[in-house]
Amino acid sequence: MKPKERMAIPRQKPRELSAEERKTNFNEIISGFDEKTAKLEAERCLQCKKPGCIQGCPLHNDIPAFIKLLREDKVEEAYWIIRRTSSLPAVCSRVCPQEFQCEGGCIRGKKGEPVAIGLLERFVVDWMVGHSKNLMEPCALPTGQKVAIVGSGPAGMTVAYNLAHRGIKCTIYDNLPVLGGMLSVGIPPFRLPRDIIKAEFDALKSCGVEIIDGIAIGKDKTLEELKDEDYGAVFLGVGAHESRKLGIPGEELVGVLHGVDYLRDVNLGKEVDLGRRVVVVGGGNVAIDVARTALRLGSTDVFILYRRTRKEMPASGSEIHHMEEEGVRLEFLAAPVAVHGENGRLKKIECIRMELGEPDESGRRRPMPVEGSNFFIDADAVVAAISQRVDPTVVHGIDIKRTPWGTFEVNPETLQTSVPWIFAGGDDVLGPQTVAKAAYQGRIASESISRFLNGEL
Ligand SMILES: Cc1cc2nc3c(=O)[nH]c(=O)nc-3n(C[C@H](O)[C@H](O)[C@H](O)COP(=O)(O)OP(=O)(O)OC[C@H]3O[C@@H](n4cnc5c(N)ncnc54)[C@H](O)[C@@H]3O)c2cc1C
Repeated sequence: MKPKERMAIPRQKPRELSAEERKTNFNEIISGFDEKTAKLEAERCLQCKKPGCIQGCPLHNDIPAFIKLLREDKVEEAYWIIRRTSSLPAVCSRVCPQEFQCEGGCIRGKKGEPVAIGLLERFVVDWMVGHSKNLMEPCALPTGQKVAIVGSGPAGMTVAYNLAHRGIKCTIYDNLPVLGGMLSVGIPPFRLPRDIIKAEFDALKSCGVEIIDGIAIGKDKTLEELKDEDYGAVFLGVGAHESRKLGIPGEELVGVLHGVDYLRDVNLGKEVDLGRRVVVVGGGNVAIDVARTALRLGSTDVFILYRRTRKEMPASGSEIHHMEEEGVRLEFLAAPVAVHGENGRLKKIECIRMELGEPDESGRRRPMPVEGSNFFIDADAVVAAISQRVDPTVVHGIDIKRTPWGTFEVNPETLQTSVPWIFAGGDDVLGPQTVAKAAYQGRIASESISRFLNGEL
Protein backbone atom coordinates (compact mmCIF):
# COMPACT_ATOMS: atom_id res chain seq x y z
CA MET A 1 0.00 0.00 0.00
CA LYS A 2 1.29 3.48 -0.83
CA PRO A 3 1.84 5.92 2.06
CA LYS A 4 -0.88 8.19 0.66
CA GLU A 5 -3.38 5.33 0.76
CA ARG A 6 -2.42 4.50 4.35
CA MET A 7 -2.87 8.12 5.34
CA ALA A 8 -6.36 8.11 3.86
CA ILE A 9 -7.62 5.31 6.12
CA PRO A 10 -9.53 6.78 9.07
CA ARG A 11 -8.99 5.43 12.60
CA GLN A 12 -11.29 2.45 13.06
CA LYS A 13 -13.79 2.56 15.91
CA PRO A 14 -14.52 -0.42 18.14
CA ARG A 15 -18.05 -1.57 18.90
CA GLU A 16 -19.24 -0.40 22.28
CA LEU A 17 -22.37 -0.62 24.37
CA SER A 18 -24.57 2.47 24.30
CA ALA A 19 -24.70 4.59 27.46
CA GLU A 20 -28.26 3.41 28.11
CA GLU A 21 -27.29 -0.25 27.75
CA ARG A 22 -24.29 -0.06 30.03
CA LYS A 23 -25.21 2.15 32.94
CA THR A 24 -27.29 -0.47 34.73
CA ASN A 25 -24.69 -3.24 34.67
CA PHE A 26 -20.96 -3.99 34.87
CA ASN A 27 -20.59 -5.60 31.41
CA GLU A 28 -17.49 -4.73 29.40
CA ILE A 29 -18.20 -1.64 27.32
CA ILE A 30 -15.80 -2.03 24.41
CA SER A 31 -15.96 -5.20 22.30
CA GLY A 32 -12.70 -4.86 20.42
CA PHE A 33 -11.99 -5.14 16.70
CA ASP A 34 -13.03 -8.00 14.46
CA GLU A 35 -10.34 -9.38 12.15
CA LYS A 36 -11.22 -7.23 9.14
CA THR A 37 -11.26 -4.00 11.16
CA ALA A 38 -8.01 -4.91 12.93
CA LYS A 39 -6.24 -5.52 9.62
CA LEU A 40 -7.50 -2.22 8.22
CA GLU A 41 -6.38 -0.34 11.32
CA ALA A 42 -2.99 -2.08 11.16
CA GLU A 43 -2.57 -0.66 7.63
CA ARG A 44 -2.58 2.84 9.12
CA CYS A 45 0.79 2.27 10.81
CA LEU A 46 3.61 4.07 8.97
CA GLN A 47 6.37 1.79 10.35
CA CYS A 48 8.43 4.81 11.43
CA LYS A 49 12.22 4.57 11.55
CA LYS A 50 12.27 6.16 15.01
CA PRO A 51 8.99 4.91 16.48
CA GLY A 52 7.60 7.28 19.11
CA CYS A 53 5.14 4.56 20.16
CA ILE A 54 7.91 2.34 21.55
CA GLN A 55 9.31 5.25 23.52
CA GLY A 56 5.85 6.11 24.83
CA CYS A 57 5.16 2.55 25.98
CA PRO A 58 6.44 2.10 29.57
CA LEU A 59 7.27 -1.52 28.66
CA HIS A 60 8.93 -0.54 25.35
CA ASN A 61 6.87 -3.09 23.42
CA ASP A 62 8.02 -3.40 19.79
CA ILE A 63 4.76 -2.01 18.45
CA PRO A 64 5.68 -1.52 14.75
CA ALA A 65 6.98 -5.13 14.63
CA PHE A 66 3.80 -6.68 15.98
CA ILE A 67 1.61 -4.50 13.74
CA LYS A 68 3.64 -5.52 10.68
CA LEU A 69 3.16 -9.21 11.52
CA LEU A 70 -0.55 -8.65 12.06
CA ARG A 71 -0.76 -7.09 8.59
CA GLU A 72 0.94 -10.21 7.22
CA ASP A 73 -1.66 -12.47 8.87
CA LYS A 74 0.94 -13.73 11.36
CA VAL A 75 -1.14 -13.07 14.46
CA GLU A 76 0.50 -15.70 16.63
CA GLU A 77 3.95 -14.32 15.84
CA ALA A 78 2.67 -10.83 16.58
CA TYR A 79 1.57 -12.09 20.00
CA TRP A 80 5.01 -13.43 20.84
CA ILE A 81 6.60 -10.09 19.94
CA ILE A 82 4.33 -8.41 22.49
CA ARG A 83 4.99 -11.14 25.05
CA ARG A 84 8.75 -10.55 24.86
CA THR A 85 8.34 -7.37 26.86
CA SER A 86 4.80 -7.46 28.27
CA SER A 87 3.71 -9.76 31.06
CA LEU A 88 0.09 -8.56 30.93
CA PRO A 89 -0.97 -7.83 27.34
CA ALA A 90 -4.66 -8.69 27.83
CA VAL A 91 -4.81 -6.25 30.75
CA CYS A 92 -2.63 -3.48 29.31
CA SER A 93 -4.45 -3.45 25.98
CA ARG A 94 -7.68 -2.75 27.86
CA VAL A 95 -6.67 -0.31 30.58
CA CYS A 96 -3.45 1.48 29.62
CA PRO A 97 -4.02 5.22 29.14
CA GLN A 98 -2.73 4.84 25.57
CA GLU A 99 -3.26 8.51 24.71
CA PHE A 100 -0.52 9.40 27.24
CA GLN A 101 1.69 6.41 26.41
CA CYS A 102 2.13 4.53 23.09
CA GLU A 103 -0.55 6.36 21.11
CA GLY A 104 0.69 9.66 22.51
CA GLY A 105 3.98 8.97 20.68
CA CYS A 106 2.38 7.91 17.37
CA ILE A 107 3.34 10.23 14.52
CA ARG A 108 -0.14 9.96 13.01
CA GLY A 109 -1.52 11.68 16.09
CA LYS A 110 0.38 14.87 15.19
CA LYS A 111 -1.98 15.74 12.36
CA GLY A 112 -4.92 13.46 12.99
CA GLU A 113 -5.73 10.39 15.01
CA PRO A 114 -3.01 7.99 16.19
CA VAL A 115 -3.06 4.30 15.27
CA ALA A 116 -5.36 2.45 17.70
CA ILE A 117 -2.42 0.52 19.21
CA GLY A 118 -4.27 -0.63 22.33
CA LEU A 119 -7.12 -2.10 20.30
CA LEU A 120 -4.70 -3.84 17.94
CA GLU A 121 -2.85 -5.38 20.89
CA ARG A 122 -6.18 -6.46 22.31
CA PHE A 123 -7.18 -8.03 18.99
CA VAL A 124 -3.97 -10.07 18.95
CA VAL A 125 -4.45 -11.35 22.52
CA ASP A 126 -8.18 -12.06 22.03
CA TRP A 127 -7.34 -13.92 18.79
CA MET A 128 -4.90 -16.16 20.71
CA VAL A 129 -7.53 -16.86 23.38
CA GLY A 130 -10.21 -17.43 20.72
CA HIS A 131 -7.94 -19.94 18.95
CA SER A 132 -7.09 -21.71 22.26
CA LYS A 133 -3.39 -20.97 21.83
CA ASN A 134 -0.85 -21.21 24.64
CA LEU A 135 -0.41 -17.79 26.19
CA MET A 136 2.88 -18.49 27.98
CA GLU A 137 6.18 -20.02 26.97
CA PRO A 138 7.03 -23.40 28.52
CA CYS A 139 8.33 -23.12 32.09
CA ALA A 140 12.02 -23.63 32.84
CA LEU A 141 13.38 -26.50 34.93
CA PRO A 142 13.54 -25.65 38.67
CA THR A 143 16.83 -24.16 39.85
CA GLY A 144 16.02 -24.83 43.51
CA GLN A 145 15.95 -21.08 44.28
CA LYS A 146 12.92 -19.55 46.07
CA VAL A 147 11.50 -16.04 46.10
CA ALA A 148 8.58 -14.59 48.07
CA ILE A 149 6.47 -11.92 46.42
CA VAL A 150 4.31 -9.70 48.60
CA GLY A 151 1.32 -8.37 46.64
CA SER A 152 -0.44 -9.91 43.66
CA GLY A 153 -0.88 -6.72 41.61
CA PRO A 154 0.73 -6.08 38.20
CA ALA A 155 4.20 -5.60 39.75
CA GLY A 156 4.11 -8.85 41.75
CA MET A 157 2.49 -10.76 38.88
CA THR A 158 5.27 -9.65 36.55
CA VAL A 159 8.02 -10.67 38.96
CA ALA A 160 6.38 -14.10 39.31
CA TYR A 161 5.97 -14.43 35.53
CA ASN A 162 9.61 -13.60 34.79
CA LEU A 163 11.18 -15.58 37.65
CA ALA A 164 9.01 -18.67 37.05
CA HIS A 165 10.30 -18.66 33.48
CA ARG A 166 13.85 -18.75 34.85
CA GLY A 167 13.01 -21.80 36.98
CA ILE A 168 12.84 -19.85 40.25
CA LYS A 169 10.10 -21.02 42.59
CA CYS A 170 7.81 -18.10 43.50
CA THR A 171 5.22 -17.77 46.23
CA ILE A 172 2.88 -14.77 46.03
CA TYR A 173 1.32 -13.57 49.31
CA ASP A 174 -1.66 -11.23 49.29
CA ASN A 175 -3.70 -9.92 52.20
CA LEU A 176 -6.96 -9.83 50.23
CA PRO A 177 -9.19 -12.77 49.34
CA VAL A 178 -8.98 -11.83 45.63
CA LEU A 179 -5.88 -11.63 43.44
CA GLY A 180 -4.67 -8.93 41.06
CA GLY A 181 -4.36 -5.90 43.35
CA MET A 182 -5.99 -2.80 41.90
CA LEU A 183 -6.90 -4.78 38.77
CA SER A 184 -9.46 -6.63 40.88
CA VAL A 185 -10.33 -4.22 43.67
CA GLY A 186 -9.86 -0.86 41.90
CA ILE A 187 -10.55 -0.94 38.16
CA PRO A 188 -14.23 -1.86 37.64
CA PRO A 189 -15.23 -4.93 35.60
CA PHE A 190 -16.85 -2.80 32.86
CA ARG A 191 -13.31 -1.77 31.94
CA LEU A 192 -11.52 -4.98 32.85
CA PRO A 193 -13.56 -8.21 32.96
CA ARG A 194 -12.52 -10.49 35.79
CA ASP A 195 -12.02 -13.57 33.59
CA ILE A 196 -9.02 -11.78 32.05
CA ILE A 197 -7.35 -11.52 35.46
CA LYS A 198 -8.26 -15.10 36.36
CA ALA A 199 -6.64 -16.35 33.12
CA GLU A 200 -3.38 -14.60 34.08
CA PHE A 201 -3.30 -16.34 37.48
CA ASP A 202 -4.26 -19.72 35.97
CA ALA A 203 -1.27 -19.36 33.66
CA LEU A 204 1.04 -18.40 36.56
CA LYS A 205 -0.16 -21.40 38.58
CA SER A 206 0.45 -23.68 35.61
CA CYS A 207 4.06 -22.48 35.76
CA GLY A 208 4.35 -23.61 39.38
CA VAL A 209 3.75 -20.24 41.05
CA GLU A 210 2.24 -20.77 44.49
CA ILE A 211 -0.38 -18.28 45.62
CA ILE A 212 -1.37 -17.69 49.24
CA ASP A 213 -4.15 -15.16 49.78
CA GLY A 214 -5.61 -13.76 52.99
CA ILE A 215 -2.17 -13.32 54.65
CA ALA A 216 -1.00 -9.80 55.51
CA ILE A 217 2.77 -9.70 55.59
CA GLY A 218 3.97 -7.53 58.47
CA LYS A 219 0.93 -8.59 60.50
CA ASP A 220 0.18 -12.32 60.07
CA LYS A 221 3.76 -13.11 59.13
CA THR A 222 6.87 -10.91 59.08
CA LEU A 223 9.45 -10.41 56.36
CA GLU A 224 12.10 -11.89 58.72
CA GLU A 225 9.95 -15.01 59.05
CA LEU A 226 9.82 -15.29 55.26
CA LYS A 227 13.61 -15.06 55.19
CA ASP A 228 13.82 -17.85 57.74
CA GLU A 229 11.70 -19.99 55.40
CA ASP A 230 14.61 -20.01 52.97
CA TYR A 231 13.33 -17.47 50.50
CA GLY A 232 16.51 -16.09 48.97
CA ALA A 233 14.88 -12.72 48.26
CA VAL A 234 11.59 -10.92 48.78
CA PHE A 235 9.83 -8.56 46.37
CA LEU A 236 7.49 -5.91 47.79
CA GLY A 237 4.68 -5.01 45.39
CA VAL A 238 2.12 -3.85 47.91
CA GLY A 239 0.88 -0.85 45.93
CA ALA A 240 -0.60 2.30 47.45
CA HIS A 241 -3.90 1.47 49.11
CA GLU A 242 -4.19 4.04 51.90
CA SER A 243 -6.58 6.83 50.87
CA ARG A 244 -5.48 10.39 51.31
CA LYS A 245 -7.91 12.37 53.44
CA LEU A 246 -9.50 15.64 52.34
CA GLY A 247 -8.37 17.25 55.60
CA ILE A 248 -11.50 19.38 55.97
CA PRO A 249 -13.98 19.74 58.84
CA GLY A 250 -16.75 17.13 58.84
CA GLU A 251 -14.74 14.38 57.13
CA GLU A 252 -15.61 11.99 59.99
CA LEU A 253 -19.38 12.22 59.27
CA VAL A 254 -21.25 9.10 58.18
CA GLY A 255 -21.63 9.34 54.41
CA VAL A 256 -18.08 10.57 53.74
CA LEU A 257 -16.04 7.79 52.13
CA HIS A 258 -12.74 7.38 50.33
CA GLY A 259 -12.46 6.26 46.72
CA VAL A 260 -10.30 3.13 46.83
CA ASP A 261 -12.02 1.93 50.04
CA TYR A 262 -15.41 2.25 48.34
CA LEU A 263 -14.26 0.46 45.17
CA ARG A 264 -12.57 -2.29 47.21
CA ASP A 265 -15.78 -2.92 49.17
CA VAL A 266 -17.92 -3.02 46.03
CA ASN A 267 -15.45 -5.31 44.27
CA LEU A 268 -15.33 -7.64 47.26
CA GLY A 269 -19.11 -7.97 47.00
CA LYS A 270 -20.09 -5.82 49.99
CA GLU A 271 -23.31 -3.86 49.70
CA VAL A 272 -22.58 -0.14 49.77
CA ASP A 273 -25.48 2.19 49.05
CA LEU A 274 -24.31 5.75 48.51
CA GLY A 275 -27.85 7.12 48.18
CA ARG A 276 -29.19 9.26 45.37
CA ARG A 277 -26.90 12.32 45.36
CA VAL A 278 -23.19 11.63 45.29
CA VAL A 279 -20.31 14.09 45.08
CA VAL A 280 -16.95 12.61 44.10
CA VAL A 281 -13.89 14.79 44.75
CA GLY A 282 -10.96 14.36 42.32
CA GLY A 283 -10.13 14.27 38.62
CA GLY A 284 -8.24 11.01 38.07
CA ASN A 285 -9.13 7.44 37.20
CA VAL A 286 -10.21 6.61 40.73
CA ALA A 287 -12.72 9.49 40.85
CA ILE A 288 -14.16 8.50 37.49
CA ASP A 289 -14.43 4.82 38.39
CA VAL A 290 -16.15 5.73 41.66
CA ALA A 291 -18.68 7.96 39.86
CA ARG A 292 -19.49 5.35 37.21
CA THR A 293 -19.74 2.58 39.80
CA ALA A 294 -22.11 4.65 41.96
CA LEU A 295 -24.29 5.29 38.91
CA ARG A 296 -24.48 1.56 38.14
CA LEU A 297 -25.45 0.83 41.74
CA GLY A 298 -28.45 3.16 41.68
CA SER A 299 -27.25 6.71 42.47
CA THR A 300 -28.99 9.15 40.15
CA ASP A 301 -27.28 12.52 40.66
CA VAL A 302 -23.56 11.98 40.51
CA PHE A 303 -21.15 14.92 40.39
CA ILE A 304 -17.42 15.10 40.03
CA LEU A 305 -15.88 18.05 41.80
CA TYR A 306 -12.50 19.01 40.36
CA ARG A 307 -10.39 21.99 41.37
CA ARG A 308 -8.86 22.55 37.93
CA THR A 309 -10.43 22.40 34.45
CA ARG A 310 -11.12 19.57 32.00
CA LYS A 311 -7.76 20.22 30.32
CA GLU A 312 -5.80 19.36 33.47
CA MET A 313 -7.77 16.22 34.38
CA PRO A 314 -5.28 13.34 34.70
CA ALA A 315 -7.87 10.74 33.66
CA SER A 316 -7.90 9.56 30.06
CA GLY A 317 -10.15 11.35 27.58
CA SER A 318 -12.12 8.25 26.61
CA GLU A 319 -12.99 7.52 30.25
CA ILE A 320 -14.16 11.09 30.76
CA HIS A 321 -16.21 10.87 27.56
CA HIS A 322 -17.83 7.57 28.57
CA MET A 323 -18.59 8.93 32.02
CA GLU A 324 -20.30 12.03 30.67
CA GLU A 325 -22.31 9.92 28.22
CA GLU A 326 -23.55 7.91 31.18
CA GLY A 327 -24.80 11.07 32.87
CA VAL A 328 -22.15 11.98 35.47
CA ARG A 329 -21.85 15.75 35.75
CA LEU A 330 -18.58 17.63 36.10
CA GLU A 331 -18.16 20.67 38.30
CA PHE A 332 -14.84 22.29 37.39
CA LEU A 333 -12.81 24.88 39.29
CA ALA A 334 -14.38 23.94 42.61
CA ALA A 335 -12.88 22.46 45.79
CA PRO A 336 -14.43 21.23 49.03
CA VAL A 337 -13.88 23.30 52.19
CA ALA A 338 -16.16 21.54 54.70
CA VAL A 339 -18.77 18.83 55.04
CA HIS A 340 -21.89 19.62 57.05
CA GLY A 341 -24.27 17.18 58.66
CA GLU A 342 -26.99 16.50 61.18
CA ASN A 343 -26.87 13.85 63.94
CA GLY A 344 -23.49 12.65 62.71
CA ARG A 345 -24.69 12.15 59.13
CA LEU A 346 -23.61 14.12 56.08
CA LYS A 347 -26.15 16.57 54.59
CA LYS A 348 -24.20 18.83 52.27
CA ILE A 349 -20.77 19.72 51.09
CA GLU A 350 -19.47 23.28 51.14
CA CYS A 351 -17.29 24.20 48.19
CA ILE A 352 -15.34 27.19 46.99
CA ARG A 353 -14.73 28.38 43.44
CA MET A 354 -11.15 28.25 42.20
CA GLU A 355 -9.19 30.07 39.55
CA LEU A 356 -5.96 28.96 37.93
CA GLY A 357 -2.74 30.77 38.80
CA GLU A 358 0.88 30.14 37.81
CA PRO A 359 2.03 26.56 37.00
CA ASP A 360 3.09 24.47 40.04
CA GLU A 361 5.81 21.74 40.33
CA SER A 362 3.60 19.38 38.26
CA GLY A 363 3.58 21.90 35.40
CA ARG A 364 -0.18 22.37 35.76
CA ARG A 365 -1.60 25.76 36.67
CA ARG A 366 -2.08 26.03 40.43
CA PRO A 367 -5.72 26.36 41.56
CA MET A 368 -6.36 29.31 43.89
CA PRO A 369 -9.54 29.87 45.92
CA VAL A 370 -11.76 32.82 44.96
CA GLU A 371 -12.55 34.53 48.23
CA GLY A 372 -16.24 34.73 49.17
CA SER A 373 -17.36 32.33 46.43
CA ASN A 374 -18.52 29.51 48.73
CA PHE A 375 -21.50 27.42 47.64
CA PHE A 376 -23.23 24.24 48.85
CA ILE A 377 -24.27 20.98 47.21
CA ASP A 378 -26.78 18.70 48.96
CA ALA A 379 -25.38 15.18 49.09
CA ASP A 380 -26.13 11.72 50.47
CA ALA A 381 -22.49 10.72 50.03
CA VAL A 382 -19.17 12.42 49.43
CA VAL A 383 -16.36 10.27 48.12
CA ALA A 384 -12.82 11.62 48.28
CA ALA A 385 -10.68 10.27 45.45
CA ILE A 386 -7.61 12.48 45.67
CA SER A 387 -4.76 9.96 45.74
CA GLN A 388 -3.34 7.14 47.80
CA ARG A 389 -0.33 6.40 49.98
CA VAL A 390 1.67 3.28 50.72
CA ASP A 391 0.62 1.35 53.84
CA PRO A 392 3.97 0.67 55.57
CA THR A 393 2.69 -2.22 57.79
CA VAL A 394 4.35 -4.72 55.48
CA VAL A 395 7.85 -3.75 56.69
CA HIS A 396 6.96 -3.98 60.39
CA GLY A 397 10.09 -4.85 62.39
CA ILE A 398 12.48 -4.14 59.50
CA ASP A 399 14.57 -1.01 59.28
CA ILE A 400 14.07 -0.12 55.63
CA LYS A 401 14.57 3.33 54.09
CA ARG A 402 11.52 5.20 52.83
CA THR A 403 11.25 8.48 50.91
CA PRO A 404 9.60 11.60 52.36
CA TRP A 405 6.47 10.55 50.39
CA GLY A 406 6.32 7.22 52.22
CA THR A 407 7.34 5.11 49.21
CA PHE A 408 10.20 2.59 49.49
CA GLU A 409 13.62 3.99 48.63
CA VAL A 410 15.27 1.84 45.98
CA ASN A 411 18.31 1.85 43.76
CA PRO A 412 16.68 3.10 40.53
CA GLU A 413 18.73 0.71 38.38
CA THR A 414 18.11 -2.48 40.35
CA LEU A 415 15.07 -1.71 42.54
CA GLN A 416 16.96 -3.12 45.51
CA THR A 417 15.92 -1.48 48.80
CA SER A 418 18.23 -0.49 51.66
CA VAL A 419 17.89 -4.11 52.89
CA PRO A 420 19.81 -6.13 50.27
CA TRP A 421 17.49 -9.17 50.13
CA ILE A 422 14.38 -6.99 49.71
CA PHE A 423 13.42 -5.50 46.33
CA ALA A 424 10.41 -3.29 45.62
CA GLY A 425 8.51 -1.92 42.63
CA GLY A 426 5.21 -0.62 41.30
CA ASP A 427 3.02 1.87 43.13
CA ASP A 428 4.88 1.32 46.43
CA VAL A 429 7.97 2.87 44.79
CA LEU A 430 6.45 5.20 42.18
CA GLY A 431 3.33 6.32 44.08
CA PRO A 432 -0.04 5.72 42.37
CA GLN A 433 0.82 5.20 38.70
CA THR A 434 -0.24 2.82 35.96
CA VAL A 435 -0.37 -0.91 35.27
CA ALA A 436 2.33 -0.76 32.59
CA LYS A 437 4.72 1.22 34.80
CA ALA A 438 4.21 -1.26 37.66
CA ALA A 439 4.76 -4.17 35.25
CA TYR A 440 7.94 -2.55 33.91
CA GLN A 441 9.34 -2.25 37.43
CA GLY A 442 8.38 -5.89 38.01
CA ARG A 443 10.49 -6.80 34.99
CA ILE A 444 13.51 -4.82 36.20
CA ALA A 445 13.19 -6.22 39.74
CA SER A 446 13.00 -9.81 38.50
CA GLU A 447 16.24 -9.37 36.56
CA SER A 448 17.93 -7.93 39.66
CA ILE A 449 16.55 -10.65 41.94
CA SER A 450 17.85 -13.32 39.59
CA ARG A 451 21.33 -11.72 39.67
CA PHE A 452 21.15 -11.36 43.45
CA LEU A 453 20.31 -15.06 43.89
CA ASN A 454 23.28 -15.95 41.72
CA GLY A 455 25.63 -13.75 43.76
CA GLU A 456 26.01 -11.19 40.94
CA LEU A 457 24.46 -8.24 42.84
C1 LIG B 1 -9.76 2.83 40.65
C2 LIG B 1 -8.46 2.68 39.94
C3 LIG B 1 -8.44 2.75 38.56
C4 LIG B 1 -7.25 2.61 37.87
N1 LIG B 1 -7.28 2.66 36.51
C5 LIG B 1 -6.13 2.45 35.83
C6 LIG B 1 -6.14 2.42 34.40
O1 LIG B 1 -7.18 2.59 33.77
N2 LIG B 1 -4.97 2.19 33.75
C7 LIG B 1 -3.79 1.97 34.41
O2 LIG B 1 -2.78 1.73 33.78
N3 LIG B 1 -3.75 2.03 35.77
C8 LIG B 1 -4.89 2.26 36.48
N4 LIG B 1 -4.86 2.28 37.84
C9 LIG B 1 -3.56 2.16 38.52
C10 LIG B 1 -3.08 0.70 38.58
O3 LIG B 1 -4.14 -0.15 38.93
C11 LIG B 1 -1.93 0.60 39.56
O4 LIG B 1 -0.92 1.51 39.17
C12 LIG B 1 -1.34 -0.80 39.60
O5 LIG B 1 -2.32 -1.76 39.93
C13 LIG B 1 -0.20 -0.88 40.60
O6 LIG B 1 0.28 -2.19 40.65
P1 LIG B 1 1.07 -2.74 41.93
O7 LIG B 1 1.36 -4.15 41.64
O8 LIG B 1 2.18 -1.82 42.25
O9 LIG B 1 0.05 -2.63 43.17
P2 LIG B 1 -1.45 -3.10 43.38
O10 LIG B 1 -2.15 -3.36 42.12
O11 LIG B 1 -2.02 -2.07 44.28
O12 LIG B 1 -1.32 -4.47 44.18
C14 LIG B 1 -0.78 -4.54 45.47
C15 LIG B 1 -1.30 -5.78 46.18
O13 LIG B 1 -0.59 -5.95 47.41
C16 LIG B 1 -1.49 -6.34 48.42
N5 LIG B 1 -0.91 -5.98 49.73
C17 LIG B 1 -0.78 -4.78 50.30
N6 LIG B 1 -0.22 -4.87 51.51
C18 LIG B 1 0.01 -6.18 51.72
C19 LIG B 1 0.58 -6.91 52.81
N7 LIG B 1 1.02 -6.31 53.91
N8 LIG B 1 0.66 -8.27 52.71
C20 LIG B 1 0.20 -8.92 51.60
N9 LIG B 1 -0.34 -8.25 50.54
C21 LIG B 1 -0.43 -6.90 50.61
C22 LIG B 1 -2.73 -5.52 48.08
O14 LIG B 1 -3.89 -6.02 48.70
C23 LIG B 1 -2.77 -5.69 46.55
O15 LIG B 1 -3.45 -6.87 46.20
C24 LIG B 1 -6.03 2.43 38.58
C25 LIG B 1 -6.04 2.37 39.97
C26 LIG B 1 -7.23 2.49 40.65
C27 LIG B 1 -7.23 2.44 42.15
